[in-house]
Amino acid sequence: MIYLDYNATTPVLPAVWKTMEPYFADEWANPSSAHSFGLRAHQAIDRARARVASLVGVESRQIVFTCSATEANNTALSAAVQARDKKRKIVTTATEHSAVLNFCSAVARRGVEVQIVPVLPSGVVDVEALSEALTPDTAVLSMMWANNETGVVNPVEHIAELCLERGILFHCDAVQAAGKLPIDLEDLSIDYLTISAHKLFGPKGAGALALGTRTPFTAMLYGGHQEDDRRGGTENVPAIVGFGRAAEMAQAEQPFWSERVRGLRDELESRVLAEIPGTYRNGIDAPRIANTTNIGFDGIDSETLVSLLDQEGICVSSGSACLSDSITPSHVIQAMTGSYDKAHEAVRFSLSHLNNSDEIAEVLRCLRFAVERCR
Ligand code: PLP
Repeated sequence: MIYLDYNATTPVLPAVWKTMEPYFADEWANPSSAHSFGLRAHQAIDRARARVASLVGVESRQIVFTCSATEANNTALSAAVQARDKKRKIVTTATEHSAVLNFCSAVARRGVEVQIVPVLPSGVVDVEALSEALTPDTAVLSMMWANNETGVVNPVEHIAELCLERGILFHCDAVQAAGKLPIDLEDLSIDYLTISAHKLFGPKGAGALALGTRTPFTAMLYGGHQEDDRRGGTENVPAIVGFGRAAEMAQAEQPFWSERVRGLRDELESRVLAEIPGTYRNGIDAPRIANTTNIGFDGIDSETLVSLLDQEGICVSSGSACLSDSITPSHVIQAMTGSYDKAHEAVRFSLSHLNNSDEIAEVLRCLRFAVERCR
């Protein structure tokens, strides 16, 4: 198998698994228990919290563990809307993940105003339109750092300043940025930042919300006193421990991983565009994370191409994994190009430092053949 779908999920690195394993086998106590067995599990969570906090430049107490980024996004937005109950507008962008857009659709049905700001053809948010949308009745802006389908990076620093000046809370979904770009919340006014363990070589079942020091917060799950009363429910200790180790590795290795993967991504992208006729890149003239390319294949149904590549043991995708069972093509490419057809033609290749040049050569060979078959 050649896996080029790392934005959907990543494997658990062996070093991460090694850190997790004892918390399945031996150290399986409930971290809320008062005995020393429980205390050890609690301490393991604390160590993980410090590591995740360090990855994004905050103090440990600013981290709330969740079971996914989806939960973190929902929690952040519901906390923000509750905190600003007189300001009832959420502003977001057209290329957000469904974990934000579907939350917005749900609250819109309950009377919250939602304004969706367009993106430019490059995939970057339209800053002028965004600035106009951030009116005094806005409670919160939710904007992703890096897009999961194109890798396009938004001007987060500038937008954070805009929100600060206008007293608007800022939620940033940094799931695809964490481990791929340096993140330091000490220098940035972000109220809620979402990350996910399984996108950075940690396990599934752990996400986190990093809160600003003065950010209003209301729990979404009520229960026991876990997470300092900010998220009820017994913690997924092995997953959190793995998240901590993965965060520590991502922080140490990120520059090296990015440099290595950028070379592989650029090799794949430039050769596809040069060697396969009728191909184009989605997300031109925009800063991007190093591992992602989104390529359109003229006149080809991307689902068919993805499945032909799958028959050759190559894993890529036509959009977000969470929406792969939907029949509508990528909302991200539609928002960028205004074209339903172009959205149908788009294939996402998302690589990691675990790929190599031989794999890229093999993907190119299979891709040429698959594209010919599709046409
Ligand atoms: N946000 C972005 C940008 C993502 O790419 C994803 C996963 O694809 C999510 C949120 C949801 O993450 P999780 O699977 O941890 O809920």
